[in-house]
Amino acid sequence: YHSKYNNLGFSFYTCQMEEAVVRKVLISEKLTTAIDEGNLRLNYQPIVELKNDELSGVEALMRWEDPDLGPISPSEFIPIAECQNMIDDISDWLFRETACQYRKWISEGFEFTGRIAINISERELAKPNRVTEILALLESLGVPPETYEIELSESAFVNDTGHTQENLDALANAGMIIAIDDFGTGHSALWQLRTQKLDKLKIDHSFVQRMESDQATRDIVEAITAMASLLDLKVIAEGVENLTQVDILRDIKCCYAQGYHFAKPLTADIFASDWLEKAQAVA
Ligand code: C2E
Ligand code: MG
Ligand code: MG
Ligand code: MG
Repeated sequence: YHSKYNNLGFSFYTCQMEEAVVRKVLISEKLTTAIDEGNLRLNYQPIVELKNDELSGVEALMRWEDPDLGPISPSEFIPIAECQNMIDDISDWLFRETACQYRKWISEGFEFTGRIAINISERELAKPNRVTEILALLESLGVPPETYEIELSESAFVNDTGHTQENLDALANAGMIIAIDDFGTGHSALWQLRTQKLDKLKIDHSFVQRMESDQATRDIVEAITAMASLLDLKVIAEGVENLTQVDILRDIKCCYAQGYHFAKPLTADIFASDWLEKAQAVA
């Protein structure tokens, strides 16, 4: 009775699906331990101002290396954490870790005038009381909300199923800056850009990478930048990997950029020694 499906293609496919499910279960189990045992890390990637290549801010990006599975990308484990209701724990960890790091840099005499950008997931902002918790946590850590910039993906922004908007407003009212991440990939209606408390758009790296070889993509990036400027929104180009892209971005008057051309995501110590200046001791 098996003969209809008994070909290599089908069994291979089944096998791959099973493997994917097993990996998900494994990851969600190991992730719980990773949070508890402090095995998550953060890397910091500089965001620069294109007019002078100077540091303007930094994005914190999560890293996790499991002893058995090796390095696992946040693109893989964050969605699993969202499904398994672990995202608040991860986010608490993220606020705690960045707050401590920020205080450490200051105490070591580094000058940091920019903000720390962190990624917040859709699930987290869909809950009614989440912002109150976040603000209480920051207060207990002695770090002002003004230290942070919140990145929310464009798709999360569009999919507001309940409390996203009011939570974003509350974070903005507390002094955080709000940026839409991966802009251009998530079908936001343009009117949303006007009505929401927004400060920045991060143009998705796929546009930046296509810009060089495709005039239409370049025109789109230029149009987004011009529109953003009219709406008083700042624009950051993501995934900038070479000087050609930098030149195009300068040409079309995009002000900020982030990507391997400037720096890869770095450990906190390397970020500090390479990108933060030691403040002059005041006599
Ligand atoms: P994202 O916020 O859009 O982050 C940018 C991603 O592009 C990062 O991947 C970064 O390492 C990578 N990148 C930076 N410069 C370049 C470049 O020049 N070329 C290329 N090809 N890639 C570049 P990463 O670190 O793997 O993060 C992937 C996604 O995972 C992030 O996308 C973000 O959505 C999510 N994520 C990362 N950390 C966190 C976190 O702490 N919390 C939450 N909720 N999500 C996170
Ligand atoms: Mg981001
Ligand atoms: Mg992005
Ligand atoms: Mg992305």
